[in-house]
Amino acid sequence: MDLAVARKRMVAQLVKRGITNARVIGAMQDIPRHIFVEEAMAAQAYSDSSLPIGEKQTISQPYTVARMTQMLELTGREKVLELGTGSGYQAAVLATLANRVYTVERIRPLALKARKALDSLRLLNVNLRIGDGTDGWPEEAPFDAILVTAGAPHVPQCLIDQLAPGGRLVIPVGDRQDQRLVLVIKHADGSVERQETEDCRFVKLIGKNGWNEEN
Ligand code: SAM
Repeated sequence: MDLAVARKRMVAQLVKRGITNARVIGAMQDIPRHIFVEEAMAAQAYSDSSLPIGEKQTISQPYTVARMTQMLELTGREKVLELGTGSGYQAAVLATLANRVYTVERIRPLALKARKALDSLRLLNVNLRIGDGTDGWPEEAPFDAILVTAGAPHVPQCLIDQLAPGGRLVIPVGDRQDQRLVLVIKHADGSVERQETEDCRFVKLIGKNGWNEEN
């Protein structure tokens, strides 16, 4: 099937499932998801499912990418931190919706592939670092938005500390298998509000402020 047609259908499905933010819908339409998966999987890239990307990791389901991005309420001026670059697809979506993106991936081969894919789209506003992202990126803080795309046992306090006033953090929190999406809002007066939204399933956030590698 024509991949552009498949992408249009994917976006139509996202709208049917409740994605309403026009900028997010536009970004999902603009970014070619198939370049973030193995060539042999290109035909499946526009189904609404997560797919393997190697190293026992996955590219998230398009609905989840759209839903989490929508929760950040980006306007185009933000400095955004993503933890869990994976394929680089979510970073690409963020890069079209915000001013600058800082993304961290702990698995080097994935990070290198993601960098190539992002460069091929000339998304020059994405800074990528290899390492444990559970400490955030203190040198670049504060961030207007933080998105964690791996499941955490709790919300790391350092990420809340690295949010700017008015900033939003979206993170899946739960056990090793099942999580709920948590939205943390740091209000202008410094108070912190926490909202639990829908259930989700992510691979583990592994690191100092996440799960132990052995578990
Ligand atoms: N956002 C990705 C995308 O668009 O393809 C999908 C992310 S995948 C579900 C989760 C990623 O988080 C994996 O690539 C995994 O290696 C990474 N990860 C897990 N723990 C991490 C940590 N402490 N720091 C950085 N990356 C981490």
